[in-house]
Amino acid sequence: MTITAAPEALLHQDPRQFRVLAGDRPTGPLHLGHYFGTLQNRVRLQDLGAAMFVLVADYQALTDRDVAAGLAERVEDLVLDYLAAGIDPARATIFVHSAVPALNQLLLPFLSLVSVTELDRNPTVKDEIARSRRASVSGLMFTYPVHQAADILFCKANLVPVGQDQLPHVELTRTIARRFNERYRHRGAGIFPLPDPLLSAAPLLLGTDGTKMSKSRGNAIALAATADETARLIRGAKTDSRRHISYDPAGRPEVSSRVLLAALCQEREPEQVAEGIGAGGAALLKKVVIEAVNEYLRPLRARRSDYAKDRGFIRQLLRAGNARASAVADATLTEVHDAMRMRQ
Ligand code: ATP
Ligand code: MG
Repeated sequence: MTITAAPEALLHQDPRQFRVLAGDRPTGPLHLGHYFGTLQNRVRLQDLGAAMFVLVADYQALTDRDVAAGLAERVEDLVLDYLAAGIDPARATIFVHSAVPALNQLLLPFLSLVSVTELDRNPTVKDEIARSRRASVSGLMFTYPVHQAADILFCKANLVPVGQDQLPHVELTRTIARRFNERYRHRGAGIFPLPDPLLSAAPLLLGTDGTKMSKSRGNAIALAATADETARLIRGAKTDSRRHISYDPAGRPEVSSRVLLAALCQEREPEQVAEGIGAGGAALLKKVVIEAVNEYLRPLRARRSDYAKDRGFIRQLLRAGNARASAVADATLTEVHDAMRMRQ
């Protein structure tokens, strides 16, 4: 059941054979974990010439909350973050779950291909359920990885740039694709590719409290934060009591995640950054990280405030993206219905 490593060499040889799907829940502003975990890879793949689909998973905002207040505005804010990071709506299809009904219909046959035991085993869902501290677990929370399989497979994506928490979901998507292909064949062939995950150098960036940086945990540094806010948050970030700074992800996870963050911003090796700080301790480490992050994000933040002046443009690009995604989803659903002999 191992997932194969992403074919990085192939990406450079022939990027056009890749179709990429990636998405985010509109539950708050995108943060540095998103950027270095997946967004940067999305932009890289787009720029290499892969077909790119970027999903705003609005239905999934409801997995761990009853109502998603202000959703429309959050969706637009998320798109602003995408544009600021370098996603180009002329090359990438940016779309919203709720606007693509045919994608959501794939959920039904896909649900029939997985057992409740398999859903119950998903470690990421288990962790999210524990953290949501709710009295009961909704059916949507339990089944959202299957919904995610529909997201990936509606556009026949074969590469999914994600953070580490998403690996069980990509694995489940491969299982669903394999089972669908075995059970239902269309003109003698399976319909769906088996997608590969693409991890970055920072598949699990830690937040200020030392756990996974996450929109919902109050531990994130937003891409759109001001330089002052960024400095304040990083100054308050958890490190450890050893003075000499080193890069040791297994032994010193918090310190190493801060070192890695500075290294990614400065395009240096984390060992080099740690060596440069050495006996300077946590105070110097934080100073270096603050400067590196603010420097790196400056152009991104400037682009974001430019785009924010024209909300009409955001709505327009979403309408176009929704229409493109719907056409793709309609075609896939037709194939699925043909394969299942459901077409009247
Ligand atoms: P929420 O707390 O609302 O679930 P989140 O911060 O976990 O938000 P998601 O929208 O669930 O963000 O995740 C979107 C994508 O970003 C996924 O591919 C996920 O793996 C990646 N990602 C999120 N946080 C991190 C992180 N700290 N490090 C690396 N990748 C991350
Ligand atoms: Mg999440």
